[in-house]
Amino acid sequence: MERREALRALPQVDEVLRELPELAGLGSGVARWVARREIEAARARILDGLEPGDVRAAIDHAVHDLTARRVGRVINATGVLLHTNLGRAPLSDEARSAVLEAMGPAAVEFDVGSGQRAQRAPVAATLAAALCDAQDALVVNNNAGALLLALGALARGREVVVGRGELIEIGGEFRLPDVMEASGAILREVGTTNRTHLHDYERALTERTAMILKVHPSNYRIVGFTTSPEVHELADLARGAGIPLLYDTGSGLLAPREGIFADEPDATSALAAGADLVCFSGDKLLGGPQAGIIAGRADLIERCRRNPVARAVRADKLTLAAMEATLWARARGEAGSIPTERMLDEPAEHIRRRARAISANLRNAEVIDGRSVTGGGSVPGSSIPTALIRFAVPTPHIAARTLRTDDPPIVARVERDAVVLDLRTVDPADDGVIASALARLER
Ligand SMILES: *Cc1c(COP(=O)(O)O)cnc(C)c1O
Repeated sequence: MERREALRALPQVDEVLRELPELAGLGSGVARWVARREIEAARARILDGLEPGDVRAAIDHAVHDLTARRVGRVINATGVLLHTNLGRAPLSDEARSAVLEAMGPAAVEFDVGSGQRAQRAPVAATLAAALCDAQDALVVNNNAGALLLALGALARGREVVVGRGELIEIGGEFRLPDVMEASGAILREVGTTNRTHLHDYERALTERTAMILKVHPSNYRIVGFTTSPEVHELADLARGAGIPLLYDTGSGLLAPREGIFADEPDATSALAAGADLVCFSGDKLLGGPQAGIIAGRADLIERCRRNPVARAVRADKLTLAAMEATLWARARGEAGSIPTERMLDEPAEHIRRRARAISANLRNAEVIDGRSVTGGGSVPGSSIPTALIRFAVPTPHIAARTLRTDDPPIVARVERDAVVLDLRTVDPADDGVIASALARLER
């Protein structure tokens, strides 16, 4: 009886469409769909013997989620350079214009000279190969896709030998054993979490082995009593067994780099040390769009290119346009135009000057020393000295939320009794936006 009354008390779709003006902003079809979905959810709760909850509030919430959660521009003041939740590497001006241009009809698989169909976006692949001194390369949707493709094309139904310490999980449901299973390759783990020796790999090789896979543990570091074979040792072993060595270097460093990157693997060195293929992300240290690049031996790249999975993980024309522009900048020695490079190289002293300029007219702000991190699965455990704006407020979580609801939203860190902003990850052109947002917080 009570249940029947609760069901009868549920509002009608037309009723809430009339009552809630904010639904109008969704367009009538979507508004009706959202209203019906929330009313049906409440009905299901009643039939399960639960409280229906406030249907109008639920609809309100749904409207807010739809209108406030767009994939819009934000200002990243977190000090995490390659923030996966904030879209990783920001694109250079050249890459942005290339994307704009490619949005209309574009010569993505077309040779304008002959008027014939041609290989898909060959320039990005050629530049990628040249920049890591590989025979050939292939650009796909992301590095997870690159790995899926390489494993599927070269090891489907056969064994792939991986060291236990490299069976990584990266945020967002990327777990190496799962990707391997999805590719149809069979995982053959060797060694232990902290120590894996060359002879562990050697013993695991049989006629069922298709490949040796080395993976850069990009978001953690095992310290202490550890060992794993060098790339050239694994390469010799693989060559002796007549199978390829694939090295997932992850972070997209093309060539060796000093400083905090001294221990970070790079594609050129990995290939020079004998890896047959490398794969890495386009939107980490490379500083380009979301993409995965496979580079190395031409015959293996060709097998990947011909595999049906290549079509499923292919990069779209906007990505390819941005990738071409990013790789051209690196090829021509103009990497300074890539925002990730600017963020990595800006001296802490320079950031301090920017932070002081913003704080000058604020009562609650002081400039303190801090550390920025690269994030996005690169250089685990390392950080870069920076200067932070520490903005003291009694309720920092609320202040940080206010900054996030600004237009454009400003994403900052919260540390105990303060909101903390790191300008290393902020485009200097946005310093003024931050200054006025903080000034508003003081009013
Ligand atoms: C980041 C990362 C991946 C996943 O790359 P996506 O481009 O995000 O798909 C795979 N392997 C390693 C080692 C990584 O660091």
